Amino acid sequence: MNSCKVAVIGAGLAGLYTAQALHASGVDLLLVEARDRVGGRILTAGNDGAPSADGFDLGPSWFWPAMQPAMADLVAELGLDSFLQHSTGDVVFERMSREEPQRFSPADENQQSMRVSGGTGAVVQALASRLPDSRIRLGTKVAAIALKDDAVELSLQGFDGSTELLRAEYVVAALPPRLLDATVVFSPAQDPVIAARWRNTSTWMAPHAKFFAIYDEAFWRKEGLSGTAQSMVGPMVEIHDATTNSGKAAVFGFLGVGADQRASVGDETLKQACVEQLARLFGPRALTPRATILKDWAADPFTATIADRTGGDHPVPGNPHWVTGTWEGRLIMAGSETSPAEPGYLAGAIVAAKQAVADILFRVELK
Ligand SMILES: Cc1cc2nc3c(=O)[nH]c(=O)nc-3n(C[C@H](O)[C@H](O)[C@H](O)COP(=O)(O)OP(=O)(O)OC[C@H]3O[C@@H](n4cnc5c(N)ncnc54)[C@H](O)[C@@H]3O)c2cc1C
Repeated sequence: MNSCKVAVIGAGLAGLYTAQALHASGVDLLLVEARDRVGGRILTAGNDGAPSADGFDLGPSWFWPAMQPAMADLVAELGLDSFLQHSTGDVVFERMSREEPQRFSPADENQQSMRVSGGTGAVVQALASRLPDSRIRLGTKVAAIALKDDAVELSLQGFDGSTELLRAEYVVAALPPRLLDATVVFSPAQDPVIAARWRNTSTWMAPHAKFFAIYDEAFWRKEGLSGTAQSMVGPMVEIHDATTNSGKAAVFGFLGVGADQRASVGDETLKQACVEQLARLFGPRALTPRATILKDWAADPFTATIADRTGGDHPVPGNPHWVTGTWEGRLIMAGSETSPAEPGYLAGAIVAAKQAVADILFRVELK
């Protein structure tokens, strides 16, 4: 049986931050990730929707330095550049299908949204590069965790159906609590009140889908449009310029169509409807994108559960007791949703991870 001092579940922002910080402190760890890539909800993709070092953010695109310094500090610490979300120009508002969309000049934003140059994926790539390959296991799901006298045993499942046991003194669960409840069997079972709390904590943005249309140039800017639009007609409800800092032109929109309806309508029909909507908002040049991408997070089993197909309240910071009873001290939560500050956001993932690192280092040093 493989063994390590700390097993970290999930190589999203929280898990990668935790793993590289523990590694830097000399702690023996293994980071176990179900997907075949790092990043979790962070996914920067090229025109084909596959991960890219300079592309479009299919997951999170923005951070707000004044409100959420944790993310701005990390971007600076990693030596990455950031740039302001493009919003110069008129906004388009589509009120109803029988009316022409209206354009208007918006008031200045209070909180400026920043993007990472290259995409938010640059942050996870920079964190992952601080870990030796031997410390990250991709394509491996944690299926079960059993509490032993002085350790925990994790049952790992590979893509190919292979199984393996991993023994660790501590487990950091760096994933949404709802997903932890849905994907991992605990022995002994978690306290029912705790398990219910995990299940009832929505995974932020998991019900959503983003559509991208990629163009040869940002033609809307030449028309004095910012690329920002709001629509009560749909299928997209909120649209923004998604042009990269390197000049790859695109717009993206959040779909207002629910997850069940998206699944029944199908991707091709939805994409066509989105392109037609962009033409209504930004003119006929929008009808001929170079490529389109539709990323439906509600259909992604390592982000969303069935409960995430509807609803999706924002998690509220509060009760810090995510683990109690016999599991306390062995299982430490670090996913963004468990953060005492900015839960659900990128900043929340960093705050939660820092707290988990401090907790583990305290326990390791006590021994
Ligand atoms: C469409 C969208 C837009 C967003 N926009 C923004 C934004 O603009 N700004 C912002 O601040 N936040 C935004 N967010 C939220 C942001 O993405 C999250 O706060 C952040 O990425 C959470 O990181 P995490 O590491 O806590 O969780 P995750 O990124 O969810 O990572 C969890 C990891 O655990 C893995 N995993 C799950 N189950 C298992 C298992 N059983 N075994 C092993 N591995 C497992 C998953 O594959 C995943 O890699 C957005 C999210 C989405 C989906």
